[in-house]
Amino acid sequence: MESTGARVRVDPAGNLLGIYPGAQPDAPALLIGSHLDTVPCAGAYDGILGIVLAVALLEELQGRRLPFSIEVIAFSEEEGVRFGTPFIGSRALVGRLDWELLDTRDAQGVSVKEAIENFGLNPKEIPAAELEKDTLGYLEFHIEQGPVLERLNQPLAAVEAIAGQSRSELLFIGRANHAGTTPMNLRRDAIAGAAEWISTVEHVALGVPGLVATVGKIEGKPGAANVIAAEARLSLDLRHSSDDIRNRAVDDLIHEAQEIAARRRLLVRADTLSNQKAVDMDPFLTREIECAIIKTGCKPHRMVSGAGHDAMIMAEKIPAAMIFLRTPGGISHDPAESIAVEDVVKAIECGMHLLDQLASSPEFHKRTHRA
Ligand SMILES: [Zn+2]
Repeated sequence: MESTGARVRVDPAGNLLGIYPGAQPDAPALLIGSHLDTVPCAGAYDGILGIVLAVALLEELQGRRLPFSIEVIAFSEEEGVRFGTPFIGSRALVGRLDWELLDTRDAQGVSVKEAIENFGLNPKEIPAAELEKDTLGYLEFHIEQGPVLERLNQPLAAVEAIAGQSRSELLFIGRANHAGTTPMNLRRDAIAGAAEWISTVEHVALGVPGLVATVGKIEGKPGAANVIAAEARLSLDLRHSSDDIRNRAVDDLIHEAQEIAARRRLLVRADTLSNQKAVDMDPFLTREIECAIIKTGCKPHRMVSGAGHDAMIMAEKIPAAMIFLRTPGGISHDPAESIAVEDVVKAIECGMHLLDQLASSPEFHKRTHRA
């Protein structure tokens, strides 16, 4: 980053920043970035591609000054693998890295606070990582991590929203009994009831555009081949860009579980584990991204991100927007994750058009964020 003329620093939350100055010394900043960390056995592009693309834009500028400065930001901890809490780096920027969160410990008993100290930083200075008052917005390039753009045969998309997400746990309770001596019509089989409900989950989600629902985990008890299951514990992950549709779907599915349970003489208990609202990306920036995509000769496409991203955290304080790149095979969080070089070229082209559009947009400059 230094070779592009950017001033590089690490903030007190461990985020790496490269500040490429604007035309005036007091020019407001546009942030462009993504995350540096990844998951175990990951691919090479999730997160890091968004940072490399931001650096590529600085290189393309070749010292040209814009009416705003560009801060390339590489977030320190997005995935939440080590501490079970995602978005630690971006939370610091929006002022949501509180002391409670800093006390969270990893599997070795090291707290976030200690990890930051061990890295040579002072956690007491974290409030200094908060966004400056005159930040214009945040842009993030990211691989789609799904099959949609490949199916559409398009390299890029503008992300219009990040889906809200509900996590629940359902417990079907029946009666354990002998698998050989209990006739089929006299059973209270918790796993059979759970299986009927899983099919209902899939059926309901297929009938609601944009809804994705997953039962990713099932645990039967007592768990023997020759015993009818007394208990089946299931996870439910449900996502949609509309919070109303998502909440209604969760209610409907719990109601379906109760009907199935009643018919099968089972009991069912449903617990909500988490509820995360959908986050809209900034409409102005999303429109500008679409224009920039058209200028690269590609069709504009808007989509909802089913995965969470730093942009969702940044959107709490400043206008945020995202650009997705086609992901071959839709494969991510796996060493087989890949990207087409032509698509990266299109992304850089799109990014340069976007910077030029924003540089000449009076509306963009009026939007300087006042915290
Ligand atoms: Zn990511």
